[in-house]
Amino acid sequence: MAFDYDLFVIGGGSGGVRAARIAAGEHGARVALAEEYRMGGTCVIRGCVPKKLMVFASSYAAAMEDARAYGWDVKTGPFDWTVFRAKLDAELDRLERVYRAGLDRAGVTVHDCRATVEDPHTVRLADGGTVTAKHILIATGGRPFVPEMAATAGAMTSNDIFKMDALPKSVLIVGGGFIACEFACILNGMGVHVTQYYRGEQILRGFDGEARGHIAELMRENGVNLHVGTDVLGMKRVEGGTWVKSTDGREAVYDAVVYATGRVPNTEGLGLDEVEVKLGRQGEVVVDEWSQTAVPSIFAVGDVTDRINLTPVAIREGHAFADTIFGAKPTRADHELVASAVFTQPEFGTVGMTEEAARDDRPIEVYATSFRPMQSAFAGRPDRVMMKLIVCAETRRVLGCHIVAPGAGEMIQLAAVAIKMGATKEDFDRTVAVHPVMAEELVTLRKPVRTA
Ligand code: NDP
Repeated sequence: MAFDYDLFVIGGGSGGVRAARIAAGEHGARVALAEEYRMGGTCVIRGCVPKKLMVFASSYAAAMEDARAYGWDVKTGPFDWTVFRAKLDAELDRLERVYRAGLDRAGVTVHDCRATVEDPHTVRLADGGTVTAKHILIATGGRPFVPEMAATAGAMTSNDIFKMDALPKSVLIVGGGFIACEFACILNGMGVHVTQYYRGEQILRGFDGEARGHIAELMRENGVNLHVGTDVLGMKRVEGGTWVKSTDGREAVYDAVVYATGRVPNTEGLGLDEVEVKLGRQGEVVVDEWSQTAVPSIFAVGDVTDRINLTPVAIREGHAFADTIFGAKPTRADHELVASAVFTQPEFGTVGMTEEAARDDRPIEVYATSFRPMQSAFAGRPDRVMMKLIVCAETRRVLGCHIVAPGAGEMIQLAAVAIKMGATKEDFDRTVAVHPVMAEELVTLRKPVRTA
C-alpha cells in the first residue's frame, strides 16, 4: 500500500520535532507533523525555557544586594513584570520561529491543527481530511493535573504563570515537586510573598534526603513560607483573591493560588484506545524499549509515555526512534544515570542513586561536605553549599552525586560524564582540583562521613 508519508508525528514538542527532523533531514523520510498549539511544546513555550528566564530575572534582587556588599553603589527599584513579560513573549516567538525553520529545512510538512489517530496508518486532521503514514509517532506530551476543587476555585497552573498580566502580591503554591519548588523560589525572588503547602514530610520526594532538607531550609531562609505536612482543605474565590483553609486550620486570602500537583499525559481523545494502543493507569502510552506501542506501526516518545519526563530524554527517545526506523541504526534511548537540575534557589543538580536507595541496595560509603561559598559569604549571605558522593563500598564506583549550590546544574552535567563512564571514588581523588572554585570540593572529599 502506498502511504502519503513515511512518518506522521503528532505533537511539535522536543521529542516530536527531533524525531521529525532526523527522520526527514538525515534519513530522507517523507514526514509530516501536526501541532495544535505553538511549535516547541512544553519546554520552549511553557516550561524549561521561560522558567529559566524567570529564574534569571528573579536572581537579580539578591545579586544587587551582594553587589552593594562588594562596594558597588547600586540603587534598586521594584521588579517590573510587564517589561520582562514583553521581552519573554518576544523571545518565545523567536524560538518558535527557529523550531519552524528547522522543520522546514528538513523538509517536514507542518499542519497547524489537532490530529487524531483513525487507524494504525491513518491520521485525521482537525482542519479537514485524513492522511496516511507507514508509521505514526505520538509525541503529545503532558499537561498540568489540577484537583477539581482547585480548578473550580480558579487556581492557576504553571501554564498560566507566564501569561500573568501583573505579578500578584501574595501567592499560595500547592505541591512539593520540581515545578512547585521552582516557582516558589522564582516568585519569592521577584518580590511576591510566597506561601507553599506540601502534603508530605519533605519537598522534592524521590531526591536525596539530605539535599531535600538542605534546599527546604535555604528556601525558608530566603523568605519562602514553606509548610510541609500541610494540604488544602477548602478554597473559594472571594473579593480580592482566593480564600484557602489548610489542614492545619490556617485560613488566609491570597492574590493568587498556583497548583503544581503533577502532570498527566495528553492522550485524551486521540483515538488511541480505539486502535488498541495500550494505555497505563494515568493514560500514558505504554511502549517497549524501542518506543513501540502495542500497535506495531504506532510509536510514542516523551512525556506522553511517562518514563523520565525531561526534555533531553524526550529528544533522545525521538532521535533513537528515527535512527531505528528510518536510519537502519537500531538505537534504544538510554534511561540510565540521567542527570537533572532543579532550578530552585539554591539550585540542585543530581545524578545517580540517592543515599536512601543505594544503602538499601548494597554497602556504601557517603562522602559529603557543606560550606559557605566564598562569593556569598563575603557579601554576608548565610547561603551554604552541599556536595555529596555516594560510593559503592565494594566496586568503589561513584553511584550518585548530589549538589546544592549556585550553578549546580552546570556542575552536575560534567560530574555525570565521569559517573556515566564508571568513575570510582579514586578517579575523583586523582583528579587535581581547580582552585578556587566550589566544585573542587568534589575531588577533595577525603573521609566518608558514614558507611551503611
Ligand atoms: P511532580 O510529580 O514532581 O510533583 C507533584 C507534586 O504535587 C508532589 O509534591 C505531589 O505530592 C503533589 N501532589 C500531587 N497531587 C496532589 C494533590 N491532589 N494535592 C496536593 N498535592 C498533590 O510534578 P511537577 O508538576 O512538579 O513536575 C512534573 C514533571 O515535570 C516532573 O516529574 C519533572 O520530570 C518535570 N519537570 C522538570 C524540571 C526540571 O528538570 N528542572 C522542571 C519542572 C518540571 P506527593 O509527593 O505527595 O505525591
